[in-house]
Amino acid sequence: MKIDLHTHTTCSDGQLTPQELVMRAQQMQVDMLAITDHDNIDGLPLAREAIEQFNAKVRLINGVEISTKWHGFEIHILGLNFDENNQKLIEVLDVQKQKRIQRAHKITQKLAFLGIDELYEKCLSKASGIVSRVHVAAVLVDEGICKDLQQAFTQFLGAKKRAYVSPDWIDMADAINVIRGAKGHAVLAHPFHYDMKSKWIRKLLTAFAAASGDATEVMHPNISPTKRDLIVNLAKELGLRASVGSDFHAPTRWTELGRKLVLPADMTPVWQAWT
Ligand code: AMP
Ligand code: MN
Ligand code: MN
Ligand code: MN
Repeated sequence: MKIDLHTHTTCSDGQLTPQELVMRAQQMQVDMLAITDHDNIDGLPLAREAIEQFNAKVRLINGVEISTKWHGFEIHILGLNFDENNQKLIEVLDVQKQKRIQRAHKITQKLAFLGIDELYEKCLSKASGIVSRVHVAAVLVDEGICKDLQQAFTQFLGAKKRAYVSPDWIDMADAINVIRGAKGHAVLAHPFHYDMKSKWIRKLLTAFAAASGDATEVMHPNISPTKRDLIVNLAKELGLRASVGSDFHAPTRWTELGRKLVLPADMTPVWQAWT
């Protein structure tokens, strides 16, 4: 069975529409797919319609990737298989969406201060769901200020760079609570993407488990065996389940849906109890 529980669409910073993503999942023979856009769930009904329309075999799991804060770090928490009509979840995502608009405004103010003017409206119109730093980066490329997205991040938008704005996301524990309140499972996304030493990774997983988090991602493409062992051992010690996802944003030479995502033996999958 091919499973991918971490993917993005044009509803956040992905390059395929929800319809295109579903078709690609079908093409790649993915059996179970979660769409986990940043801080919004707008893509879910669109993907579901497409599955029906094309009679696709892929099973769609409700998903979202919530940006949260914990000890000054920005931690991404996936919500999976929740009730998408849960009012509290909808409210929280709406607040996150507004925070993203405010952040985009502050970022473009910083850019204006550097002499790069009038980008705010352009950034908002680039975004079809929530506004991401990727949209700001794309506008910087369009305007000929940066040669590619990577340069936009290293020069302006990355942590501590010249137009960086420290976001004020929901607390990690509160996000976990909201996901569980909506009858979903909370999953720690890409534990090695936070620029943390292993001592802090242990602290993070411990806090995540103490806050009733359910599972951690243990497999994403290209994770080293050493890192995988570290996270697998920690997860077992803390009683966390495992999840697998590609964090797909666009088809490239290196990124594909459902590729190289094997659950390590003797780990309980987060999807075990999903009927
Ligand atoms: P945001 O959630 O708006 O802060 O935007 C973060 C998103 O930007 C991540 O989810 C990645 O998809 C993307 N990203 C982060 N760092 C880079 C980078 N150096 N180059 C290109 N995209 C990046
Ligand atoms: Mn992203
Ligand atoms: Mn992420
Ligand atoms: Mn992601």
